[in-house]
Amino acid sequence: MEKLRSLKPVIVFHLLLNIIVVIFITGASYYHIPLEGLKDTSIYLLHLFVLQLTVGGILYFLSLNKWLFRILFSILFLLYCGFSFWAYSQDLSVTMPLIQSVLETKADIAIDVITLPYILFLAAAILALSFLLKRHQKLQSSKGFKILVIPALLCVSLFFVLEQKRPGSLKNRLPYNLANGFIEYFEKPNLKLKTTIPELEFSEDPLKMIFVLGETVRADHIGLNGYERNTTPLLTSENNIISFNKLYTDNTYTGASVPQILTDQSLESEEGTYTSIYSVAIKAKFKTTWIGNQTLEKSFYPIVKTNNNIILIDKYKSEFSFDKELDEAMFLPLDSILPLNKRQLITLHMIGSHWWYENRYTKEHRKYTPVIDSKYIPSLTKEQIVNSYDNTILYLDYFLFTLIEKLKKEKDPTVLIYVSDHGEHLGENGKWLHAQSGKAAINPAYFIWFSKKYQEKYPNKMAQLKAIKNQEMTTDSIYYTLLDLLGISFLNN
Ligand SMILES: [Zn+2]
Repeated sequence: MEKLRSLKPVIVFHLLLNIIVVIFITGASYYHIPLEGLKDTSIYLLHLFVLQLTVGGILYFLSLNKWLFRILFSILFLLYCGFSFWAYSQDLSVTMPLIQSVLETKADIAIDVITLPYILFLAAAILALSFLLKRHQKLQSSKGFKILVIPALLCVSLFFVLEQKRPGSLKNRLPYNLANGFIEYFEKPNLKLKTTIPELEFSEDPLKMIFVLGETVRADHIGLNGYERNTTPLLTSENNIISFNKLYTDNTYTGASVPQILTDQSLESEEGTYTSIYSVAIKAKFKTTWIGNQTLEKSFYPIVKTNNNIILIDKYKSEFSFDKELDEAMFLPLDSILPLNKRQLITLHMIGSHWWYENRYTKEHRKYTPVIDSKYIPSLTKEQIVNSYDNTILYLDYFLFTLIEKLKKEKDPTVLIYVSDHGEHLGENGKWLHAQSGKAAINPAYFIWFSKKYQEKYPNKMAQLKAIKNQEMTTDSIYYTLLDLLGISFLNN
């Protein structure tokens, strides 16, 4: 009886503590998730509840020591509120790039982001914190404080069990994503790049290439490749386009695929030192620009850094945000860069067809309906998912066609390469999305388009590529094809 009586205030305190942490921090990761109906909402509420259980376990251990709670909890709580405000108000993704910007931004820029709502949010957080500190102080004098050690330990271990089962399901949300982002920021990238580039042979003639690094586009949903729906009506009207429908990769997620495509790393090798395609192009007197609508991941950040110029669109919103900029936002910087130099390699890194599909295209491209209306996949039909996915391909068609129109206006020879980093599961064997093996994810879309002037100048290149368009190839070939199209060859080979 005595024990039970002393347990009550501890439980009440932890209930209040967890509710306040949900309101100010963890809830922010769920606030923008598009959900339809009671069932989907309850599933995500359950998800939040489970996540909070794991957080609650950690909070319990923090609360065991007076000073640990007063100092460490207070610092963490306010630091987290500083980030969760942006997750609530703008659906920003709390990932490494956001942390980098906070740590590396000069003070005068930081002042700009401090708005009245931000101050009010932090003021409310301070009030909530002082309320919690007072309750905690009262609790210190009561007995039975350590009574919940075992349940709390179980709550914390739940995190590891769930992360083992579904990696990222908790880790990509607050508060874990912030801790993760900090670790990533201070960790050195695994990738090592060669700094000395072998001797090259090249001419210094004008040539502009746009290299579009696509996202999550599978070859068999491309109209040009004979898909039953004509998802590429605009590209189909182009004469000088070649679609390669048998490109394969083992890498089924961006972090693994992009560095392999952008270097001479082969699919078979993992550890090693590789050469960035941009270092080679720069040595051959090209100006290189990276325009990205994706956050830079640690795995390919060092390669992107080898460009002369880096422009990132909407850089604090990753694929975990639900109102990310459309890929056409990259046209504006492209238009200003394209006329600047006669020899250019411009890379456009798309968010492409990455889940959540409804945030990847405009209303005009909503040809196939009904589309997805909830982020909770089990409540969607296959038809809805495929419709939304195919609408993203229609948008890709428009995106590439617009680029081709821009390149046609150039006085110099131009060429466009499009390659997606991997495919996507659309219900095959009960699988959805990517980052898992299976046929649907390993056959990405791949196109090359040449301008008339390019064809006149290099008549053999198009014929050579046309001859192999139906052959099986791997993403190992992209690096060499790209250099070949830029007119670069290695002297020793
Ligand atoms: Zn990807």
